[in-house]
Amino acid sequence: MRYKEELLRLIGEVIFPENIYCVGCGEPIKKNEIYSLCEKCREMLIYSRPETCVRCGRFVKKRETVFCEHCGARPPKYDRGAAAVVYNDAARKMIYDLKYGGKGYVAKNAAGIMQRCVENLGGHDIIIPVPVHKNKIKARGFCQTTLISESLSKLTGIPVLKGNLVRTKDTLPMSGLEPEERRNNIRDAFDVTDASCILGKKVLLIDDLLTTGSTAEECARVLKGSGAAEVSLAVFASPYSKNKN
Ligand SMILES: [Zn+2]
Ligand SMILES: [Zn+2]
Repeated sequence: MRYKEELLRLIGEVIFPENIYCVGCGEPIKKNEIYSLCEKCREMLIYSRPETCVRCGRFVKKRETVFCEHCGARPPKYDRGAAAVVYNDAARKMIYDLKYGGKGYVAKNAAGIMQRCVENLGGHDIIIPVPVHKNKIKARGFCQTTLISESLSKLTGIPVLKGNLVRTKDTLPMSGLEPEERRNNIRDAFDVTDASCILGKKVLLIDDLLTTGSTAEECARVLKGSGAAEVSLAVFASPYSKNKN
């Protein structure tokens, strides 16, 4: 099974070779461009440093209050959060290509861009990817959160714990659901197979996108229930959130 996934990923990389086109806009780039991004996309993704909510890491337009609208009403179940880039056109294309375009190598570029914000979150004992249901992994040929986690592990030296936090329920797409419906949709979708690997550990949870946060929160709830000392969340991208009124 893992062999088949790896083979599909490698075939994808032959069909879509990296470092020829910009992963943010698809324009041709020079071979040595950092993160496979053209100058315009690099500017859009990396050099724009918007204000962030101190609790969850979501971006806010103006730092009038300390928390974003999500955390102001109800603090998240994870201890700290950080997003590497704003969910703009370039980030949207990268996530789309990674999840639906067979371009597994985009995970490496995303991880490279995430490295600094992961290091700023503090020290962690283990990296755990937000689990993706096996039906989606089968369709995609790989698990995008695992690929990002493995690349981040190479960059930071923090080991990845795979196959311990698992997804037991294939949920409905979250788009179009109200916050309460999202929380119900995701409830009991995750399980820990061996709590002894998590007990007392500072866990860094990795996802590609943070929107309402209900998936990451449910993972954090399950991990803390299994004895994790701390759970931080790092995501590649997150849209702007409103400030708390
Ligand atoms: Zn570009
Ligand atoms: Zn927040």
